[in-house]
Amino acid sequence: MNQILAATHNQHKIAEFQEMLTANHLEIQIVNPSTFSGFPELIENGETFEANSAMKAEQAAAFAKMTAFADDSGLAVDALHGAPGIYSARYAGENATDADRIAKLLNEMKGVADRTARFVCVISIAHCGKRIAAFRGEVVGTIAQSPAGSKGFGYDPVFIPAGYNKTFAELGADVKDKISHRARAFEKAIAFLRDNILPDGGFKWS
Ligand code: IMP
Repeated sequence: MNQILAATHNQHKIAEFQEMLTANHLEIQIVNPSTFSGFPELIENGETFEANSAMKAEQAAAFAKMTAFADDSGLAVDALHGAPGIYSARYAGENATDADRIAKLLNEMKGVADRTARFVCVISIAHCGKRIAAFRGEVVGTIAQSPAGSKGFGYDPVFIPAGYNKTFAELGADVKDKISHRARAFEKAIAFLRDNILPDGGFKWS
């Protein structure tokens, strides 16, 4: 069976991607980086989601000498000129919690009328250290006045997707997995992988 290495230790993302592959009847097995001894710490010091996801995919693919994918994601708020953006995970410092990050965001948004924001996800695919393709997914919405809901993770309790009046944390996986930035980027990546699978195993570039 075809294999693709996930350049992430986030088991939630690995499970989500494997579910989407299976749901799309794609016979590709996701390889977990924990199966390699000495798997390197992946450096992500780019200035865009594209650059960071490409770096992670390229480093993982070069180390394992196979095809790898990586995703980089975050929340971009219009009134904050795109912040927290690529710094979403580190917005309130290294050891901060989701609650700390949300508190900082709501504080920055105090009295701000335009609450438009978007979640962005870029998935890059690389083979043996060279990027093959990248796919971007976005979902537009608004930042709530206060957190609501307990599902999901990260900024979900303050993000209300356009067309709904509840946050992602209230709506839950049924809605989020259909319209999220990650689902949209995954969909494109999966269509690309489908087009590039060779009937007897491997990908067109391998
Ligand atoms: P990374 O892509 O794993 O580096 O995550 C970036 C950060 O963006 C996460 O730690 C979250 O704070 C935020 N983020 C990315 N995707 C989501 C999402 O689907 N919901 C809520 N927060 C998210």
